[in-house]
Amino acid sequence: MRVVICGGGVIGACTAYFLRRLGIDATVVERTEIAAAASGKAGGFLAQDWCAGTPLDALARRSFALHAQLPAEVAGDWGYRAMSAYSGFVAADSDPRRDSPSALGWLSDGVIVAQRIGTPKTTAIVHPGKFTSATMNGALALGAELRLGRVTGIVRDADEIAAKGVEIDGDLIEADAVVIAMGPWSLLAAQWMSLPAVYGQRSPSIVYDTGADVPADALFLEYDENGSAVSIEVFPRADGSTHVTAFSDVAPLPLDPAVVTPDEDAIARLQAISERLSPAFRADRIIARQACFRPVTQDGLPLIGKVPGSEGLYVATGHNVWGILNAPATGEALAQLIAHGAAGDVDLSPFDPARLRPLDPSLLRAR
Ligand SMILES: Cc1cc2nc3c(=O)[nH]c(=O)nc-3n(C[C@H](O)[C@H](O)[C@H](O)COP(=O)(O)OP(=O)(O)OC[C@H]3O[C@@H](n4cnc5c(N)ncnc54)[C@H](O)[C@@H]3O)c2cc1C
Repeated sequence: MRVVICGGGVIGACTAYFLRRLGIDATVVERTEIAAAASGKAGGFLAQDWCAGTPLDALARRSFALHAQLPAEVAGDWGYRAMSAYSGFVAADSDPRRDSPSALGWLSDGVIVAQRIGTPKTTAIVHPGKFTSATMNGALALGAELRLGRVTGIVRDADEIAAKGVEIDGDLIEADAVVIAMGPWSLLAAQWMSLPAVYGQRSPSIVYDTGADVPADALFLEYDENGSAVSIEVFPRADGSTHVTAFSDVAPLPLDPAVVTPDEDAIARLQAISERLSPAFRADRIIARQACFRPVTQDGLPLIGKVPGSEGLYVATGHNVWGILNAPATGEALAQLIAHGAAGDVDLSPFDPARLRPLDPSLLRAR
């Protein structure tokens, strides 16, 4: 059986890796480069039990465990490390605590650490781009293929049910099964098959070269920006880079993932907030000013499973803020579903694409 996976983000790379572990032929088709989009620009934060009480809980727990195992199974260094996480806030100018020393010495006065919300047993981090590339390389080492090119359509049999192949820039590669894993660009696949809508939600981020100045603690802080509360996330990574992100907006998704750019005003605001947090965030230490689009579905849960009314068509997208965390268990479960007809480690029924109404393809053609 040959499976073609459309999209070389973290979901596509993990799916290819776990398919090869089951001995299934896998080809990833990527339009730009591996980890070109959100999978290369995310924070990389992982949490074992922060999805407790939601349909994502089992997927997240399984994935958190796989993240801990993969460094021993896949070649490469993507900076997997356990860490603590804290919540807190930045005291406003009118708050008498604005001059209080922070409980974490590298933070500026007035950055109040309120609570420890994750321990090295329950929270961890990876460099998401390096993780995605290493997993893809792990799949290639097991015999997978990577083809650079743009997926422009899906070919089915005469009854329009069974997958026969994928069109890449007009050329056909044959396939017995096809996985749509194009992140927010999976929306385009609703022209070719019956799929619910997937939206892109944009967030800016700044990556600083902080070396050893920032310890391995993730921070989730509230900041008062001219009377409006802003949530900021700070993720120090093992390679000495620190990822800072805040805000999210709904912006038009460019058709070409390579031309995603941040909003300059959002980057300037994020830089000002970062400089308030710590002298470690100096302008001359900025490595990247960037933005990416998270794939989001109507009910906030991913789409993982068989495309309704098809044979051999699958989708894995819509992972929202937890795509890096949930990629290994998604890839593992989808590979089991394709190879054996059912996922063994995680129940995929909460993520069945059939639960949501398919998008009317004429809405896409009208664009
Ligand atoms: C600022 C920010 C911070 C985040 N932080 C975290 C975090 O700390 N922890 C966490 O778990 N998650 C985090 N996320 C979420 C995570 O990044 C995403 O859920 C995840 O990367 C989605 O992966 P994906 O493979 O589905 O999509 P993508 O990474 O978008 O990959 C899709 C791929 O498909 C390719 N493609 C598109 N169209 C085509 C085509 N026609 N043909 C071929 N290829 C195509 C693209 O080039 C791209 O490489 C964050 C997201 C953002 C934006």
